[in-house]
Amino acid sequence: MVYKKKSIVIGIETSCDDTAVSVVNRNRNVLSNIIIHQKIHKKYGGVVPELAARLHEKYLVKAVNMAISSAKINKNQIDAVSFTLGPGLIGPLLVGASFAKSFSMGLKIPLIGVNHVQAHILSQFIKKGNLNKSYYPIFPFLCLMISGGHTQIVKVNDFFKMEILGSTLDDSVGDAFDKIARMFGFSYPGGPKLEYFSKNGNSKKFIFSKPLVKGLDFSFSGLKSHVMQFIKKKSKKNPYFVQNNLSDLCASIQRIIAEILLEKVKKAIADTGIFRVSLAGGVSANNEIIRHFLVLEKKNKKWEIFIPKKKYATDNAAMIAITGLLKYEKNIFDPINVCSYSKFQTF
Ligand code: AMP
Ligand code: MG
Repeated sequence: MVYKKKSIVIGIETSCDDTAVSVVNRNRNVLSNIIIHQKIHKKYGGVVPELAARLHEKYLVKAVNMAISSAKINKNQIDAVSFTLGPGLIGPLLVGASFAKSFSMGLKIPLIGVNHVQAHILSQFIKKGNLNKSYYPIFPFLCLMISGGHTQIVKVNDFFKMEILGSTLDDSVGDAFDKIARMFGFSYPGGPKLEYFSKNGNSKKFIFSKPLVKGLDFSFSGLKSHVMQFIKKKSKKNPYFVQNNLSDLCASIQRIIAEILLEKVKKAIADTGIFRVSLAGGVSANNEIIRHFLVLEKKNKKWEIFIPKKKYATDNAAMIAITGLLKYEKNIFDPINVCSYSKFQTF
């Protein structure tokens, strides 16, 4: 295959504990998508920022070489380098930024800083990025952004014109999954384990209260406390309560979270009159949450739900590369002294 000049962008993602590099072409095809998971954090029960930064430094050159060779290109064919500018853990971010800046200077190609949350949303524009659709969502659409760090409903007017309609007042939904999972003894990230154990559970056995939050904002800390108190109370009477009811507990928690998310999206649809909704972020890999949305899509002819492929739902570099490509097409570049940031600012 012959690639035309000005068509290949590399993306580097180091915002947390995955060292990820991807190469995409102008047709929005992902030519390679490398992720090196840092396993060391498991034994600490969460990500240790200092260790994550050191391991990014150790793995990044290897990941870049793997991404370039599995894309079957050479480094001189790359037209721009994109990288996660923020939000995330500052040490890990700086490792990715330093590498990207050197790469850009060495190859004399443009540097493109990417907002990680925006990249999750724009992962819908990866070619065949949807399980149930072969095309991209038409603007404007709503995005339910559900990850370890963020829970937002975003109105996406254009690639780089996004408005936050609602967000969490406390914990993110991923955090709620992880903290509740930890009560059951699951290691980080707990969301996938909670989903796994809910498989044969009765999701209606335990009823947890839904938070009363006005508008399109969310709150998950109340649910987390409710589950904690409930388990403490039951375990006092029966020390094997969690063990004996694990599947039902997981299924009940998963269902209530799916319902909370769906109710807010229904309200956002009613408020905006926009019926196209995409899901993004690690929590959108949850099959029960996906099922809740697809059931409603079937009932409501106007609804269109866009689900990311699992590998593009959790942190990945393909979403950074595709966002880089979209910026590259619009000549949106960054200077070499652009600064990384840890906290979400704006889109
Ligand atoms: P991200 O921040 O986008 O990388 O997403 C990571 C978050 O997604 C963590 O909080 C995980 O527990 C959560 N997560 C990943 N897969 C699932 C799943 N299948 N069900 C629920 N949460 C999940
Ligand atoms: Mg993320």
